[in-house]
Amino acid sequence: MTANARPISILMYHQIDAAPPKGSALRGLVVAPRTFYWHMAVMWLLGYRGLSISDLEPYLLGQKHGKVFGITFDDGYVNNLKNALPVLTRFRFTSTCYVVPGLLGKTNAWDAEHGIDQVPLMNSADLQTWLTAGQEIGSHTMTHARLQGMDDAQLSAEVAGSKAALEALLMMRGVRHFCYPYGAYDAAAVQAARVGGYATATTTVRGRVLVSESLDMLRLPRVLVSRTTTWVHLLLKCFTRYEDKRAAAPFVYEQTSV
Ligand SMILES: [Zn+2]
Repeated sequence: MTANARPISILMYHQIDAAPPKGSALRGLVVAPRTFYWHMAVMWLLGYRGLSISDLEPYLLGQKHGKVFGITFDDGYVNNLKNALPVLTRFRFTSTCYVVPGLLGKTNAWDAEHGIDQVPLMNSADLQTWLTAGQEIGSHTMTHARLQGMDDAQLSAEVAGSKAALEALLMMRGVRHFCYPYGAYDAAAVQAARVGGYATATTTVRGRVLVSESLDMLRLPRVLVSRTTTWVHLLLKCFTRYEDKRAAAPFVYEQTSV
């Protein structure tokens, strides 16, 4: 492996839609379609290619080098299909959407207790459309579970179980990428991802990926993208140490001010 001087950004999106009313909880995680378009357009104009985690893997492993970045969507909202897919297709970018197989076709029920708007999640037909369009599916546990502190049986059901459920549902092999809900994980959760057969797992630790021998593919940091991230701001995050400096202050899911 050779050193890759250029850090790799893996963008973390949630919803792509018009902003909910002011004061809505987690409003900051809803990126407007137009903003998303400009994020992708400016990266494309700079000669960068947006890639799913599978497509990005050889770059993360130092096997390939080039102007690339990762694109991820957490939770599997229908608005990703409606508003992000046409933009991804236009620029021929791929991406990974981490979905919750226990809640397909339902809503973000895990957020209900926090008074967060309920928004539709993709169903299995939507996931097929997403895959057919060249995009990727990863797992985000069976039920959007907080994995920290779970026992081995619960961890296995959520982590390995969700991989098996998605592969059965989509009649495919190779759901190889995982994302820890709420960014919550401990050593046992990481071990469950490893034993469960995942090649990578993403966190909400902020920062760009520094390719090296010691890179832990099951604890990948990401670049937080929120409603207020303009394309200028995105460039700062991807091409300066802006985001890396925030590694010590990971994104807190419940925080509403992002
Ligand atoms: Zn999530």
